[in-house]
Amino acid sequence: MTDTFRALRLFKTEGGQEARFVDLSESDLMDGDVVVRVEYSTLNYKDGLALTGRAPVVRVWPLTPGIDLAGVVERSDHPGFTPGDRVVANGWGLGETHHGGYAQKARLKGDWLVKLPDAVSTDAAMAIGTAGYTAMLSVMALERVGATPDKGDVIVTGAAGGVGSVAIAVLAKLGYRVVASSGRKATEGDYLASLGAADVIDRAELSGPGRPLGRERWAGAVDAVGSHTLANVLSQTRYGGAVAACGLAQGMDLPASVAPFILRGITLVGIDSVMCPRPLREEAWRRLAHDLDPAKLSAMRVDTTLTNALTLGAEILEGKIRGRLVLDVDK
Ligand code: NDP
Repeated sequence: MTDTFRALRLFKTEGGQEARFVDLSESDLMDGDVVVRVEYSTLNYKDGLALTGRAPVVRVWPLTPGIDLAGVVERSDHPGFTPGDRVVANGWGLGETHHGGYAQKARLKGDWLVKLPDAVSTDAAMAIGTAGYTAMLSVMALERVGATPDKGDVIVTGAAGGVGSVAIAVLAKLGYRVVASSGRKATEGDYLASLGAADVIDRAELSGPGRPLGRERWAGAVDAVGSHTLANVLSQTRYGGAVAACGLAQGMDLPASVAPFILRGITLVGIDSVMCPRPLREEAWRRLAHDLDPAKLSAMRVDTTLTNALTLGAEILEGKIRGRLVLDVDK
């Protein structure tokens, strides 16, 4: 590569924000002790919010968006990394307060990087991305509070999206009977079954105002949707069950009651991928190498280019994207 590299940059304007592809040099990067040659990035729901400006994800201007990146270490002053290491970074403010993955080069703190397991290529890491790693964190959280496959069905909401797709594939591989909740049952029912969903329900069953306590249906849940959906999932969770809340695709509100907690002893576990401590991240990536079937990951990924990111950013917010997007940052 020449001394300059290509990046997508968001600039603040009087009317809002503007996105432009620019050629940059290393002096345009922020501080950090590791320089990474970025090979792939991805597009998550949060990237859609940043690219469209629909929520205040970007905190410093101008900024290279992209909350994820995967690539190869070019230079390192960090004791944990040497040139040639294959690495992944998720969160830590990438694409929010620090230049993110939508560029061919990144300089960042080595403490933010995780070495990829041998079995995970840089493009597969971005097929997983923050969405998939959050799905794994959610499954690990359910396990920590006692979830096991013999206890009953686990529901995954926002099923055809990124978090949902990976959660279904991982839970099914671990032996859980997975029920997928989707607004695209008619068109994506076969896809969800191919990932391992034993049953698919229409998300309309969960998306309206519900009762404080409902029929006990789920031993566990991974909820990427929030709002009434999460409230209904809580009210339908069986005695002693657990729900991992990781998303807000329907809304940030939680119109629920304490009834499921004080009458059924259920647990609500919050999942944060951005500031998640490093040992948990490393465990999540180790588990993803082991517990996510590569064939299922291939089935859920769509390979595209950084040039298409702006169009895709709007589409993901409309719930039109299935599974996971991999962005080749060189194209
Ligand atoms: P996607 O857009 O890929 O998936 C979201 C899915 O939610 C959609 O595919 C759709 O699934 C469903 N959905 C969309 N709109 C609605 C709606 N109005 N009501 C009910 N369901 C809806 O996003 P991701 O999978 O990347 O992220 C999912 C959520 O998780 C987002 O809110 C994101 O911000 C959050 N997140 C949180 C993280 C954390 O650290 N806690 C990390 C990563 C993501 P279907 O068509 O099947 O119904």
